Amino acid sequence: MRHIYWNETMERMDRSSLRAIQDERLRDVVRRVYTNVPFYRDRMQQAGLTPADIRGVQDLHLLPYTVKQDLRDHYPFGLFAVPQSEIVRIHASSGTTGKPSVSGYTSGDVDRWSELMARSMYCAGVTRGDVVQIAYGYGLFTGGLGAHYGAERVGASVIPMSGGNTARQMMLMEDFGTTTLCCTPSYAMNIAESLREAGVTIDRLKLKVGVFGAETWSPRMRYLIEQALGIDALNVYGLSEVMGPGVSMECLCKQGMHIWEDHFIAEIIGENNETLPYGQEGDLTFTTLTKHGMPLLRYRTHDICHLTDEPCPCGRTHIRMGPIQGRTDDMLIIRGVNVFPSQIEHVLLGIKGIEPNYMIVVDREGALDTLEVQVELSAELLGDTVKEIEALRSKIQTKLGNDVLVHADVKFCQPGSLVRSDGKAKRVVDRRKM
Ligand code: ADP
Ligand code: ZN
Repeated sequence: MRHIYWNETMERMDRSSLRAIQDERLRDVVRRVYTNVPFYRDRMQQAGLTPADIRGVQDLHLLPYTVKQDLRDHYPFGLFAVPQSEIVRIHASSGTTGKPSVSGYTSGDVDRWSELMARSMYCAGVTRGDVVQIAYGYGLFTGGLGAHYGAERVGASVIPMSGGNTARQMMLMEDFGTTTLCCTPSYAMNIAESLREAGVTIDRLKLKVGVFGAETWSPRMRYLIEQALGIDALNVYGLSEVMGPGVSMECLCKQGMHIWEDHFIAEIIGENNETLPYGQEGDLTFTTLTKHGMPLLRYRTHDICHLTDEPCPCGRTHIRMGPIQGRTDDMLIIRGVNVFPSQIEHVLLGIKGIEPNYMIVVDREGALDTLEVQVELSAELLGDTVKEIEALRSKIQTKLGNDVLVHADVKFCQPGSLVRSDGKAKRVVDRRKM
């Protein structure tokens, strides 16, 4: 496998030089926010800190955390660290509850973001000459524009399709010779299914790689997408508060996402607010080192994963994060058991004949929580006898009981009957909250 590097010096820098850059940039960002953002100055003063106390990464743990509520409390622009006249772009997260969290970028920030997305594209082997179809949504959501700028920066031919309109996606994919698809994994699955239904075989396409992110997906889902589209399906991670896509990106070794550490410091925080060592799972937390519009100190993403500093065969020295196991805000508590939708996905997709479309419905009957898992049967299984279908149902229920420790009622649906997504899939309905 041949690896290409967008910025080889940075991407393969020895760890002690990388650390020296982080030390210097951390001192700089702390000084900037202390001077320009009353929120950070107050927080640091309450903790008895001045910028001089933060000499480098070794002092990071002294700084207070920042949480999503802090962004809400200072909605919309209260955490910006530059005058609004220097902000050239504003994004926001979807904000399913209440006000969205807003993020502001200076032109330097947009430039650095493009740079990091360009590195990420190179991780996937995407370069000049590639045809990159961006099927992430364009708009306040960072997915579309983030991928767009990165793909342009490497000199690829960019098709700014945005999400949705699957028939047109398929037509352009074939006619324009798309080599690279950027979208959510659930939308990639949706496109693959539509191609199959339309009788478009993969030899008519030039697709070679997918840059998929913005939602959790299981290893099994990766396998299914890779088989269906004949590509390498790679994971890209980011969030609007911290930047957008390209905070980290998987290389072709597919062993986790390299976090661009010259721009971000990642930590994993445990349940008692302690910093956990590499290898342990907890709340992924970022400090931005080079953002000027809206820097963040120790921002708790609520995304759960682990970090590793084991060397990667690709030669990049930046640490990697494992796949996101779930978001603490997505965790369901069902009869006292903590359940992540991703665990259920893992069980379902491991069973032959189950299509990668499902819906999790949680409700309450009297004092008891109920869990219903709706799954689509594959067309082949539809013809099975009632007895065979009942055996499959009990197999899934037993496996969920063993692996996820909850009882679920499994309901089979017709192929194609569950809602498909063209962005982030919504797979959970929690009626207890309605
Ligand atoms: P929101 O989803 O809160 O509206 P964003 O649109 O900024 O905010 O999306 C960021 C979130 O999307 C991350 O915090 C994370 O939960 C999820 N996400 C992004 N990339 C990935 C990925 N590769 N795997 C799993 N989850 C991801
Ligand atoms: Zn690598």
